[in-house]
Amino acid sequence: MNREEREERLSQLRAQYDLYKSRPFELSVARGIPSKQQLALSEALINDVDIEEVISEDEIDIRNYGGLYGIKEARELFGSLMNTSLEETFVGGNSSLQLMYAVLNHFMYTSDNPWSKEETVKFLCPSPGYDRHWFMLEHLGIEMIPVPLTGQGPDMDTVEELASSDPAIKGIFVVPTYNNPTGETISDEAVDRLAQMNTAFEDFIILWDNAYVVHHFKEEKEVAKDILEASKQAGFPNRPIHFVSTSKMTLPGAGVAAIGTSAERLKELAKTFSKQLISFDKINQKRQVTFLKDKETIEKHMEKHAEILAPKFEWIDAIFSAFFDGDRKEFVEWTKPNGGYFVHLTTQDGCATSIVSKMREIGIQLTEANAAYPYGNNPRDNSIRLAPSNVSLDNLEIILEVLCVCIELVTLEKQED
Ligand code: PLP
Repeated sequence: MNREEREERLSQLRAQYDLYKSRPFELSVARGIPSKQQLALSEALINDVDIEEVISEDEIDIRNYGGLYGIKEARELFGSLMNTSLEETFVGGNSSLQLMYAVLNHFMYTSDNPWSKEETVKFLCPSPGYDRHWFMLEHLGIEMIPVPLTGQGPDMDTVEELASSDPAIKGIFVVPTYNNPTGETISDEAVDRLAQMNTAFEDFIILWDNAYVVHHFKEEKEVAKDILEASKQAGFPNRPIHFVSTSKMTLPGAGVAAIGTSAERLKELAKTFSKQLISFDKINQKRQVTFLKDKETIEKHMEKHAEILAPKFEWIDAIFSAFFDGDRKEFVEWTKPNGGYFVHLTTQDGCATSIVSKMREIGIQLTEANAAYPYGNNPRDNSIRLAPSNVSLDNLEIILEVLCVCIELVTLEKQED
């Protein structure tokens, strides 16, 4: 495109944008929230799940105090998702994030050798990653070190180099399956290297946030290798702490979350949890188990989610592929995940913040640009996350059409600079 052509195209795009501005939208693809249609799949949990037996399989009265580790049937159900035994499985309340925070807080302040006694505490942060992980670390005063992703998990050369050289680095966050927001699943090789690597801090931990463990769109499912087994074989059984929740299987407002780790590590964590509460909501644990039953039933249930979600992801790919072709091919790259909740856009350098602001100005909310980087700090300013689950296909089409215009407008304006 020569200068004149660019000027002409820019004036068309500006006219289009002004039109949008004159009649603002009220739409959002900012957060990964299940749609009403998805919530309806688990409607039975509210009125129709009969709890026939108030005594759990391990003889706990679910109405009463007791059973800090959760009821046996819930631990077995989550154990089937994490490949953990009963002694390695803990079932808590409705949020895996809260468990992650409690675990980090334990290591910071209440373990036998609290990290907070040291001047600096650091954590490895594969990026683009989940902004709420970064908020948590920042809140606890843990310095975040970004590590690039490869499309198959963290760049292990960088991870090994950093973890082996600096004892202030205490651990790493990993979203192994359909990472938020890049959608990638970690390779077996990266799992083995994480499990086996030598670390300067001897009790290095891996927070393995498997929020999207069963959230496939395709028949061919992406499954991350078992980190606990690999770590046991490597002689570091206490290294990984696995998290899963039913938030995006059933109802995020009233789900159940679990931890899977070595029996020894779990005892250590449970000792700290026991100072916070007597037991979690076992009636909800029972209700979720009654509804979800077993791994096979969960997989069938998740196919219904996929029927609702997958077309939205196909739509994004189809619209971007049609628009960003020819002259516009270089303007943006987008991920095409096989599961999870997000699409990640890589814009040209220096464009992401302006694109997100332009969208906001006309009433369409996106996640803050570069929020997937620790402290929101991405010197390239090229990262945008789309969370399409909670908009209809019709509204998604509108959002994408407008987004294409904003991406082209900002990119061409940047080229003019
Ligand atoms: N972990 C990841 C990677 C997520 O994307 C989300 C929600 O978007 C969560 C955890 C939240 O999990 P929970 O509802 O169990 O706290």
